[in-house]
Amino acid sequence: MEKHLGTLVFDIDGLVCPQLVGEGVDYASLKPYKKALVIVNGLFDKGYEIIFETSRFMGRAKGDSQKAHEIGYDFTFQQLTRWGFKFHKLRVGKSRGDLYIDDKGLGCPKQEDGRSDWDKIYQECLKVDNNKQ
Ligand SMILES: [Mg+2]
Repeated sequence: MEKHLGTLVFDIDGLVCPQLVGEGVDYASLKPYKKALVIVNGLFDKGYEIIFETSRFMGRAKGDSQKAHEIGYDFTFQQLTRWGFKFHKLRVGKSRGDLYIDDKGLGCPKQEDGRSDWDKIYQECLKVDNNKQ
């Protein structure tokens, strides 16, 4: 069997469908973005491994990944499937964050030598302030 081209890890809410805000959000009401569906499925068909990771249900689970998985895995798996997404894996139980910093993240600041640019990372971190209006 041919090796896949690479592994692409996608978020769900706010990326492939709108982000719901507030307590007790109803994920069932969401609809996917058509362009996201076309592009992700196209990448799957080209031979990329597609993984979805979500922090859905982490609020309800009080940050317990295993509990979030128990509450939301089947629902989310079925929703992605019903929406028509082709994927290999789903992980429910990602940490909830206001900013995700990952050297393999799209747009992660890099220096000219390819190393992570910590001055830029620091400045981006300082922009996170949930106390701001
Ligand atoms: Mg998101």
